[in-house]
Amino acid sequence: MDQRSLPPHVLIFPFPVQGHVNCMLKLAELLCLAGLHVTFLNSEHTQSRLLRYTDVQSRFSRFPGFHFETISDGLPADHPRSGDRVTEMFASIKAVTKPRFREMVISGHLSSRPVTCIIADGIMCFTIDVAKELGIPIISFRPVSASCFWAFFCIPKLIEAGELPIKGEDNMDQLLSNVPGMESFLRFRDLPSFCRVNDLTDLGLQLVMTETQQATRANGLILNTFEDLEEPTLTFIRRHIPKLYTIGPLHANLKARVPSETVSSPQSSNSLWEEDRTCMTWLDVQPLKSVVYVSFGSMTVVTREELIEFWYGLVNSGKRFLWVVRPNSVVGERQIPLELVEGTKQRGYMVGWAPQEEVLAHPAIGGFLTHSGWNSTLESIVAGVPMICWPYYADQQVNSRLVGEVWKLGMDMKDTCDRITVEKMVYDLMERRRDEFVRSANQMAKLARRSVSEGGSSYCNLDSLIEDIKLMTPRFKLN
Ligand code: UDP
Repeated sequence: MDQRSLPPHVLIFPFPVQGHVNCMLKLAELLCLAGLHVTFLNSEHTQSRLLRYTDVQSRFSRFPGFHFETISDGLPADHPRSGDRVTEMFASIKAVTKPRFREMVISGHLSSRPVTCIIADGIMCFTIDVAKELGIPIISFRPVSASCFWAFFCIPKLIEAGELPIKGEDNMDQLLSNVPGMESFLRFRDLPSFCRVNDLTDLGLQLVMTETQQATRANGLILNTFEDLEEPTLTFIRRHIPKLYTIGPLHANLKARVPSETVSSPQSSNSLWEEDRTCMTWLDVQPLKSVVYVSFGSMTVVTREELIEFWYGLVNSGKRFLWVVRPNSVVGERQIPLELVEGTKQRGYMVGWAPQEEVLAHPAIGGFLTHSGWNSTLESIVAGVPMICWPYYADQQVNSRLVGEVWKLGMDMKDTCDRITVEKMVYDLMERRRDEFVRSANQMAKLARRSVSEGGSSYCNLDSLIEDIKLMTPRFKLN
């Protein structure tokens, strides 16, 4: 059949961790709903977990033009792929996945027909090299906030101006002058964690700096954000990358577009861990807005000491809490004091993994103690839930500053972890400053929902993205 009469065929390739896979699968579903053909390339490790814990296979089977493909991430099955070991993923993806990806695209073994556009995670810019070599249009996708992307983008400027490397602990609360648009609130403490190094040749710093600069080589950039949330920063990014599609919050955009007769069951998810749904039954019998939801996402690893400080803070606050403690997310040995076990029995509930979007939307939830991962932040914004932020790494330091200082949606607990602070912040969030936070959270939730409804910025930008993809014509240099 003449390729031109077929819908576009998009290859979507996320960096193989939960947050990236989750939102790129939402994008895949949105493109399928628009009639595009999609091949979704997962690492073998991710794919086996997705198949084990979700309905992803049957959910996507309603789109005949959708296919999963897999590729090795080069790591053994038992590698943790989290905490500070994530840097090993970058190394192995470069060594193992990169050549295989090129081979896969060249050989045309990705599905029954050639790819007409690639949407690849912007933290794997070798995909841009391959796309350019083969004449296939490519759009970068970054699942971080626009503000974090912009901070990454400004790293060369920060180095040139002598603001990096950071000059010691004493400087951490000073404002920076070289991230345009953020001069009034971004402190050294709020830079992405990769910037906290003395050595400018540090691998993590070099990686985010060079990969981010490369975004200008792609045909466009997709960000999971919305105009009303990050408008000033988006204006700066557009000076370098005019084709910038802000189509978030993707989970809300998808929800707004899925026809009601095909709404997925509540059990639908993109989770790489088994969701423990007993927490929903527990939430059902808690009073309105009375529970603090606690989760540090899919990558955070805490020490046993930190765990105990959070635990004391939560128990001593006297508030109810639902806490996700992911398997293998705590290091070190320490006896759990009996009073914590008792306090949890009275007012708490713990699970290994929760259906987070659903939890945040539950009427019993009154606050979110979060690591400020970008997906979690957006999910909290859409649900109108105020936050206490304890950023762990990467983009989270920037996100938590925005939540606390710019959007006033909660408090930033960055760089501290003691029971007194936790207790005080929980009390402030749930009682003392409750009205103030709820007011701004409700306003922002309204703006988020407006952006994905018909005529809203993210709604229209998704339409433009789809139209642009339809107009893309590869200059195939293969079969
Ligand atoms: N998540 C979930 N259940 C949990 C914890 C997290 O479904 O118990 C989901 C959450 O809804 C979000 C993703 O995992 O979509 C985590 O992504 P985020 O960007 O917040 O953080 P990361 O895990 O990448 O650090």
